[in-house]
Amino acid sequence: MKLNLKTLKLHPRESVSFHLEEPGDNSLIKDIGACFADIIGVDIVIRDNDTVYEALGRLYTSLKLSCSRCLEDFIYNIEAEMAFDIVEEEQNQESRVIDDMLVLVKDEVDIQPLVYEIIFTEIPFIPLCQEGCRGLCPVCGQNRNQDQCSCQEKIIDPRWEKLKNYT
Ligand SMILES: [Zn+2]
Ligand SMILES: [Zn+2]
Repeated sequence: MKLNLKTLKLHPRESVSFHLEEPGDNSLIKDIGACFADIIGVDIVIRDNDTVYEALGRLYTSLKLSCSRCLEDFIYNIEAEMAFDIVEEEQNQESRVIDDMLVLVKDEVDIQPLVYEIIFTEIPFIPLCQEGCRGLCPVCGQNRNQDQCSCQEKIIDPRWEKLKNYT
């Protein structure tokens, strides 16, 4: 995902907007049990601010995640803001992320690492298909969002167990 700032360089103090769409790379998120359900879209406006280029925009995509309670796959939409600066390449410097700054190499800046970094931070640590997901029955494995099973669930709190001995 590269942005070319050649036009902006020829018209200092102006701004350019970009719209990029790219299929997501599943190999980068498969370790967390996720895969892309939609393209990654990015809208960005870059403004020449004399010393740096200021970029503001948003990215959006959809992922397929597995619910950590009922284990069902569900679609998780991501929409996140992007704000970063772009600086000119210095000698012997490779294109990489320096804090919130990206480096311009031959008029181009590669926003891919930043895009994935943002997507990673947007993925919930404990993904849930819905707020009140009821999960699976620990006895028969029935998905309790779909149907109630007939298992008697004995929830014995050890503190109550002790109290019973006193009565
Ligand atoms: Zn669930
Ligand atoms: Zn059950």
